[in-house]
Amino acid sequence: MAGRPRRSLIAGNWKMNGLRAALAELDPMIAGAAALETSLDLMICPPATLIAAAAARAQGSALMIGGQDCHAEAAGAFTGDIAAEMLRDAGAVAVIVGHSERRIYHHESDAAVRAKALAARRAGLQAIVCVGESKDERARGATLDVVGRQVDQSLPDGATTGNLVIAYEPVWAIGTGLTPTPADVAEVHTFIRARLVARFGADGQGMRILYGGSVKPSNAAELMRVDDVDGALVGGASLKAAEFLAIAKAAAR
Ligand code: PEP
Repeated sequence: MAGRPRRSLIAGNWKMNGLRAALAELDPMIAGAAALETSLDLMICPPATLIAAAAARAQGSALMIGGQDCHAEAAGAFTGDIAAEMLRDAGAVAVIVGHSERRIYHHESDAAVRAKALAARRAGLQAIVCVGESKDERARGATLDVVGRQVDQSLPDGATTGNLVIAYEPVWAIGTGLTPTPADVAEVHTFIRARLVARFGADGQGMRILYGGSVKPSNAAELMRVDDVDGALVGGASLKAAEFLAIAKAAAR
């Protein structure tokens, strides 16, 4: 492939990890984001408690800060929830929605994920919408059916290259050390791309499709070389700057 058709994004999902001391990891990431700025985008999604401090620390740098989830409503009686507007106000520029841990542990439906993606747009945040099949679904050959349904139903109408990113994250690959083969990743990403183009036209062509699930420095180059892989959503390996930046450097090559 002659050059990348889309600018890559390497986004780190810290999940429910990190006290204030963890913010020190951002300093080398900020330096790394500056060094890699001509090649790709770098983002960290810390827990909500750290977003404002992380955004203040990264202010004026190329390192972007995102949230991990948001409520569909802008305000109201939803104890413990966080509106997309609040994330934006705290300094986030993006929010992950529909992560499999939200779909599984919080029973979030495709419709709920779509409403959250719409909330992100309303607040001026980029939505990173996660899709992916379970181990059983892959075993019974249902991967493309499941991912196709999630893409169709979790993405709001009118999504654009600028306001939406997809993350293909096979559930069985998250946090397990297992990864699909590059050929399997290619099959799903090509399938998602076709679906996006059919629905959103040129915007579907421009939308970034990240791969997520046990991305590490040792497998990043191989996975990021696959056609229609426009970056990575990284969990465990994003907690330490050295590992996260090694992944980003592999993706920049
Ligand atoms: C994730 O949770 O989005 C993820 C990809 O996790 P990990 O990289 O740890 O598999």
